[in-house]
Amino acid sequence: MNKNNIVCKFGGTSLASSENIRKVKDIVVSGNKRFVIVSAPGKRTKDDVKLTDCLINCFNFSKEGKDFTESFNAFKNRFEEIKKEFNLNIDLTPYYEDLYSHIVEHNDYDYVVSRGEFFSARVISLFFGYEFLDAASFITFAKDGSVELEITKQKFESLIENGKKYVIPGFYGLDYKGKIKTFSRGGSDVTGAIVSAIADAPVYENWTDVDGFLSADPRLCNNPELIEELSYHELRELSYMGANVLHQDCAKFLRENNIVLNLRNTFNPTCKGSLIMPDSEKIKHKKLTGIAGQKGFTIIHIDKFDINESLGIIERIANIFKKYNISIEHIPTGIDSVSIIVKSHFVNSTNTKDLLDDIYDQIKPDRLEIIENVALISIVGSLLKTCREAEKQVFESLFKTNSQIITLNKGAGGISIIFGIPESEFENTMQTLYNSLF
Ligand code: ASP
Repeated sequence: MNKNNIVCKFGGTSLASSENIRKVKDIVVSGNKRFVIVSAPGKRTKDDVKLTDCLINCFNFSKEGKDFTESFNAFKNRFEEIKKEFNLNIDLTPYYEDLYSHIVEHNDYDYVVSRGEFFSARVISLFFGYEFLDAASFITFAKDGSVELEITKQKFESLIENGKKYVIPGFYGLDYKGKIKTFSRGGSDVTGAIVSAIADAPVYENWTDVDGFLSADPRLCNNPELIEELSYHELRELSYMGANVLHQDCAKFLRENNIVLNLRNTFNPTCKGSLIMPDSEKIKHKKLTGIAGQKGFTIIHIDKFDINESLGIIERIANIFKKYNISIEHIPTGIDSVSIIVKSHFVNSTNTKDLLDDIYDQIKPDRLEIIENVALISIVGSLLKTCREAEKQVFESLFKTNSQIITLNKGAGGISIIFGIPESEFENTMQTLYNSLF
């Protein structure tokens, strides 16, 4: 591990305005950060537009033969304003011209959409007095779309020089044909993770506009506590139920590469944020980690005598759902019954009658029931694996909520208890459970 190679990534909101970029500079310079990954500038106000969306609009308008001047000017003006505000001596004209001609040609979507990060890194590196290091010069994608980590690392090592510090555009790299390729939306998180791995960074700091990972959704529970330390496993369980802060591929990559992530707030830099650790053993688990939940589930309940003895029946049921392109969330099973829990929008967009007819024909159930409008809530904490007291506390609190429990499951990983209740009881139950458990 190289102690000096601190990697930090700043999201769109942190870079939305000159005022915010000044805050970022303070953090970077005073913290002696070596590799800074930047997103495209985001929204300054609620009604503003993120520059990546401006580029997407330009591309689509051009493709449809429509005038894209307004979106193009909005993009250009934002960088001109930043340039002027910081008195930067850089002529962006050739880059605007290049972008303009790519939009007119409209045959390279990824190239156009990646330019928000490219311009962002160009101007910010100059303002910080850092080197500009183009992600396209080292991040290399394989034919199947995955990142060639070894090649990426070799190229990166050949480019960086001792004692120099770099600003790197997030979100893109080069594909196997040598063309710009972007990650999916929010992908600058992934660039930060890759740079952390290849620079052997002690920690990957991901700076956003929230203090860190909260133990509950603040829109549902009053004043939720900040989680100081959690494992990737816990993070995944919470994100699965809607608590999304990080790009999904980023969490996977960090866990596989053993990297500690520190989620920080650009607008509250004295707050230490949340540490997300690959190794759960290193965390002092004193209490439960968090609670998350979502409405919008449907349960298809199948009663059939001795169903658990019927060989291959779960596979047959799963295949029926596959035929209708419905992904299954959970399958709690009993001696004479199976419940299939799915997201309601899948069922609503399918011909339910055909689905049920298939289940009748192939499974021959004694009874079939559809339970709609179910909300799932997950209580997460590694403590649930080891501490009976924590488990007891969860169940006692659960019964005190007086909610009707439609389904209940202790996740196979042992670190979460998931249960389903009627959607109408969701908000109340979340708040009551949060108050008694955290
Ligand atoms: N600018 C890209 C997006 O808006 C990537 C990122 O911000 O991480 O999705």
